Amino acid sequence: TYVIAAPCIDVLDRGCVEECPVDCIYEGARSLYIHPDECIDCGACEPVCPVEAISYESDVPARWEDFIDDNARFFHRR
Ligand code: SF4
Repeated sequence: TYVIAAPCIDVLDRGCVEECPVDCIYEGARSLYIHPDECIDCGACEPVCPVEAISYESDVPARWEDFIDDNARFFHRR
């Protein structure tokens, strides 16, 4: 799955939402989140993010690794 990390917070550009072919990017209060079970790993969202917040999970920078779990938790709360 792809993951949205820190740069999205309070930015929520939403360009990625337009690109996602399976509509698996959801909006939280301060960030967008990618549903880990719905993402088909197409990569379409990554280049359109103006703040480069999106990475494939294994490529998430170490300082943002917590966002992988935070992202999953967002959906388990729903
Ligand atoms: Fe949607 Fe593709 Fe990005 Fe996954 S990688 S969130 S399916 S645009």
